[in-house]
Amino acid sequence: MSVSKIQAVISSKCPRCRTGKMFTGTAYGLSRQKMHDHCPHCGFKFEIEPGYFYAAMYVSYALSVGEVLCMALLTAMITKSESPWMYIGVLFTTILIFAPFNYRYSRLILLHYLSPKVSYNPKYAALKK
Ligand SMILES: [Zn+2]
Repeated sequence: MSVSKIQAVISSKCPRCRTGKMFTGTAYGLSRQKMHDHCPHCGFKFEIEPGYFYAAMYVSYALSVGEVLCMALLTAMITKSESPWMYIGVLFTTILIFAPFNYRYSRLILLHYLSPKVSYNPKYAALKK
């Protein structure tokens, strides 16, 4: 069974084996989501080097800008408001609502697409635990 890269990102799987889950819980569950230090399936260490996930801030920033722009345009089209307080309220709420999503997917995008040292290896997917 082969999992595509985009399926692995959407289902929060390890970039090396695409089988083990990177996070405990769901992005919007009642319990706080937490990232595993190592892949529970293949043992891959997600934080490749100390401070590696600082780079995820840039990905998170890009995601936030996209979300905020979409919400600003939607707000302008739906309400036709010119009040800055309307936009400040909507955009601040958008940032808060998308924070758990951005936390999770910025790290996933960083590891799956922007880390040249990390690549999928079917040998690890076939490991039996
Ligand atoms: Zn793995």
